[in-house]
Amino acid sequence: MARCLYSKWGDELRRDPEIAARTRELSTLIKASSVLSSSSGVTNECRICEEEDGGSCCGAGIEDGYGSELLLLNLLLGAVLPGVANSAGSCHFLGETGCVLHARDILCINYMCRRIHETIPPGMLFALRKANGAEMDLIFALHERVKGFIRKNTL
Ligand code: SF4
Ligand code: SF4
Repeated sequence: MARCLYSKWGDELRRDPEIAARTRELSTLIKASSVLSSSSGVTNECRICEEEDGGSCCGAGIEDGYGSELLLLNLLLGAVLPGVANSAGSCHFLGETGCVLHARDILCINYMCRRIHETIPPGMLFALRKANGAEMDLIFALHERVKGFIRKNTL
């Protein structure tokens, strides 16, 4: 469904000045969160959890919480959606090196397990959380804008 919407409306969505500007802004915020996730050690803890300790929290079925408009937003951001899952026991969007999505659901961004809270210094976690907050706010606003566009043009 997301691919269909993208092939029909992708060009028009990109030409919308507000969506284009906010998509660029969101890409910058997502990169900033990703840099902080790496520098704080969170990315590495999650990698060890997935590769050495028997599997991360990205379990099978979580992909069902993703609607077509949020996936459409991911396509606008340049994400490549996999046709088949990398592993039957994991979320459809968990690739070889982590999540393949750019704009993730708030649940995915927000969740940090006890291991993360016990291993990552609080100051670093605070900086990451602050960046995640800005990222989530803009994902919410842009997701609503994309949903509004699709509703207006398809109903
Ligand atoms: S948040 Fe916790 S459970 Fe999820 S991948 Fe990272 S370390 Fe593993
Ligand atoms: S972070 Fe990505 S791979 Fe993990 S559960 Fe969420 S969508 Fe799936």
